[in-house]
Amino acid sequence: MAITEINLPNDEFVRRTRVKDGDGKLYLKCINIGQGDCTFIVCPNGKRMMIDGGSTEWGDTDIDKVRANLPYKDDELPIDVLVMTHPCRDHYNKLGDLLGKSSVGMVYYGYDLGQYKAFAFRSWANGWGRYKGKAWDYGGMEELFVNKDKPAARLLLDGGGGCKLTAIAANVKATRSNTDSYAKNTASVVVLCNFGTDRFLIPGDATCDTEAFILAQYKDKLDQLKLKILRVAHHGSASSSMSAFVNATAPPLAIISCSKKSKGHGLPRRTVVKRFLPKLQDVASHDIGYFDDEGGNECATLIEDEAGLPETNLPFVKVSTEKDLWETSFQGTYSTVLTGK
Ligand SMILES: [Zn+2]
Repeated sequence: MAITEINLPNDEFVRRTRVKDGDGKLYLKCINIGQGDCTFIVCPNGKRMMIDGGSTEWGDTDIDKVRANLPYKDDELPIDVLVMTHPCRDHYNKLGDLLGKSSVGMVYYGYDLGQYKAFAFRSWANGWGRYKGKAWDYGGMEELFVNKDKPAARLLLDGGGGCKLTAIAANVKATRSNTDSYAKNTASVVVLCNFGTDRFLIPGDATCDTEAFILAQYKDKLDQLKLKILRVAHHGSASSSMSAFVNATAPPLAIISCSKKSKGHGLPRRTVVKRFLPKLQDVASHDIGYFDDEGGNECATLIEDEAGLPETNLPFVKVSTEKDLWETSFQGTYSTVLTGK
């Protein structure tokens, strides 16, 4: 197992990831940002990628606490590649607060850029208001397409030492539901990291449609989808994580970005959590929670991600488990160091 260190003290994480050309290891941080998503990766060659930075519960999430996870100095945090998986605000609306005037290299995004409408984000990206004069100094922007029409995976960042960060889906078309948010979620950029024997996947809010596309692309090489770590799609929603995808990826560790306070969202769902548990490795007993949708359908598409989300009355259940399911709402930020060996 090449996951060598789990949850380095933050000071140590920051100290090590400030090494300019990297130290040959890969640092992965799935940041607890409330009901949202934010993933930070420092490659073996020191290059940095951020995937998403948003939360619908900012009132309950301390931005300084979130920023403390990032190796800042004097407001400078060069990000070589920023990926905005899709325009649901819990994935991008806090990027300005997180990155401030730091420079960003290449920006890749899924779905129509005009749909990234959150005012704070636009202010930052356009250098308005308090960002005036310190506008986002990006190297370029590109909408990614890795779908039926254009199925070839796209290399987003060469992390050195054989580490490659690749988009294996982006702008996949929705077929199972015609709601706006399902279409956006399905379009999520899905980032696969390959580093020697280590492999992890950050799928944004990808849906069953996105997963079906990925499975079709890998049908003759399914062993290349076996993961060490999976950040569970869409906060453990029932519109993602179909059985075939869980079986194919079979991660020993699954991370769900969620918030206990987001009762209205009802995420994660019991049916999804139960699908993962048999795949996960054994660890010490700890608490997890889920919203009980027992008997719910696979690939149910009713759950939405936006403000107009339908309320759910599903009961919240807290249980203890000895399986390696990490919920940011219970266990906070997850970080690890991968060696690729
Ligand atoms: Zn989301």
